[in-house]
Amino acid sequence: MKKHQLKLYNTLTRAKELFEPLKPPYVGMYVCGPTVYSDVHLGNCRTFTSFDIVYRYLTHLGYKVRYVRNITDVGHLVGDADEGEDKIGKKAKLENLEPMEIVQRYTNGFHFVMQQLNNTPPSIEPTATGHIVEQLEMTQQIINNGYGYVANGSVYFDVKKYAEKYEYGKLSGRVLDELLAGQRELDGQEEKRNKEDFALWKNALPTHLMRWKSPWGDGFPGWHLECSVMSMKYLGERFDIHGGGMDLKFPHHECEVAQSVGAYGTEAVKYWLHTNMLTVNGQRMGKSVGNSILPAELFTGNHALLEQPYSPMTLRFFMLQTHYRGTMDITNDALKAAQKGYLKMMNGLKNAKELQANQATFTFATSDDKLKTEVQELIAAVYEGMDDDFNTAMAIAGLFNLLKKINTLHTQQQTIATWDKESFDTLLATYISFVEDVLGLREEGLTDLAAVLNVLLGLYQEAKHNKNYEQVDKLRTSMKSLGIVVKDMKTGIGWAYDEV
Ligand code: AMP
Ligand code: ZN
Repeated sequence: MKKHQLKLYNTLTRAKELFEPLKPPYVGMYVCGPTVYSDVHLGNCRTFTSFDIVYRYLTHLGYKVRYVRNITDVGHLVGDADEGEDKIGKKAKLENLEPMEIVQRYTNGFHFVMQQLNNTPPSIEPTATGHIVEQLEMTQQIINNGYGYVANGSVYFDVKKYAEKYEYGKLSGRVLDELLAGQRELDGQEEKRNKEDFALWKNALPTHLMRWKSPWGDGFPGWHLECSVMSMKYLGERFDIHGGGMDLKFPHHECEVAQSVGAYGTEAVKYWLHTNMLTVNGQRMGKSVGNSILPAELFTGNHALLEQPYSPMTLRFFMLQTHYRGTMDITNDALKAAQKGYLKMMNGLKNAKELQANQATFTFATSDDKLKTEVQELIAAVYEGMDDDFNTAMAIAGLFNLLKKINTLHTQQQTIATWDKESFDTLLATYISFVEDVLGLREEGLTDLAAVLNVLLGLYQEAKHNKNYEQVDKLRTSMKSLGIVVKDMKTGIGWAYDEV
C-alpha cells in the first residue's frame, strides 16, 4: 500500500485527523441512503457522489473497503420526527399502491441515477424492512440496559437517563439542557417522558400500512434505529467511517450514537463525515423546500431555472470542483464552466491514451533527474489534494497541471525524445487512473449513433447530387461496415439495418 498521510475532518472531534483504520487494510464505511418515496434530487446526488469519491480514493490507496449504504423503506416519518405518517405509506395511499411498489419504483430510479453519475454501487445495500428482527433485538437490549421505556405499545429512548452517564449532543454540539429548556408542550407526544426522547419502536394505528408484530404490539421501527442496526450488523460494533449529509447530524446521527452506546456501551463510529448542502439561490435544495431539480430535468434541460441541458458527467465534474464540506450553489454559469472543464479533462484523457498506445513507436532519453523530480512534484500535488480531506477541487487543479504536460507531448511529439520512459509512463498512468478511477469521470457523448448516421447520410446525398460516384460508393461501403445499408428511394435517402 502506498504511504499516505490521509487526513479527514471528523465531525465528532471537529478536527482534521490522520486516517488510521481500526483493522487495516480493511475499512468499513456506512452511508445513510435515500428514503425511497420520491425521486432523488441533485442535492441527494451531491452527498452520494461525495461518498463515492471517498470510497474510490480509499480503494485507490489499496484499502479493502466494505461500503454499506442502506435503503430507507420504512420508519422515516413526514416531518422527520416521531409524529405523522410514514413517508412511504403516505405516498402508497395517495397512489393506491402497495408500499413496496413505491419502494421498488424509487429504488430503481435511484439506482439508474447512480449509474448515470458513475457512482460505484455499495458492497451491501441493506433495507430497513429486511432487518426488523435485528431492530427488535436492539430495542430490547436498550430496554434491558435501562435506556428505553415502553408507553402505549411504543418504545422510546430515555435521553435524560442516558445523559446522566453519557454525553447526549457530543456529535452535533447540541446541549441537552438547552433542548429541554426549550421544551414546549409535548404537543401530541404525551407518551414521552421528555420531548427529546425518540422512538425506537412505534405503535401502529389501525390505518398504518407497514406493520410487524413485536413484544409491545403491532408496530414499526423508528427511523434512527435502522442505521445503527444495519451498520453494526455488517461492519461490527466498532467501525471506521459513517457518512451522510450535514442535515442528518441532528437528530438522526446523534440518536445513532446514543443507541449504540445505550445498547452496547461503545460508540460504533470512529470517523463521522458530513457533506455540505447543495443550494439553489443560496437556499438548501430540498423536497420539502420545493426547489428540487431532478437529475432527469438537468439532463434534458427541462426546468425553469435551466438555460440548456447538462450531461451527467458535467454534473459530476461540477460537484467535484467544490470540496465536499463547502457549500455549492447551482447556477447556469457554474454548470457551463464545468462543462468546459470536463471536456478539457476528457481531451487530455484521449491524448494520454493515444500516447500510451503509441509508446512503442517513440524513442526516449535515458534519464533526466530534473524532469523526474518535476513530474513527481506535479503528481504529489494531486495526492496532496486528495489527502487533505478528499479535496477534489485541489486534485483537479493538480490534474490540469499534468494535463498541460500531456497535451504538449501530444502536439509536439518530437519533445518525447527528451523524456525518460519512467517519467512518461507515470505521468500518463497517474492522469488516467485519477480521472477514471478516483474521480470516476468517463467519456460520454460518443454514443448518439443516430446523429452520426444523419451526418453520413447528408454527405451521401451531397455526393450523389454532385454525381461523385466514387465518394458515393465509399460512403456505402463505410456504412455497410457499421451494419447499415443506404436506401435510395424516390422520396429521398433512407437507411435500414443490414440483415445479412
Ligand atoms: P433523504 O432521502 O432525504 O434521507 O436524503 C438522502 C441523503 O441526501 C442524506 O444524506 C441527506 O443529508 C442528503 N441531502 C438532502 N438534501 C441535500 C442537499 N440539498 N445537499 C446535499 N445533500 C443533501
Ligand atoms: Zn441513517
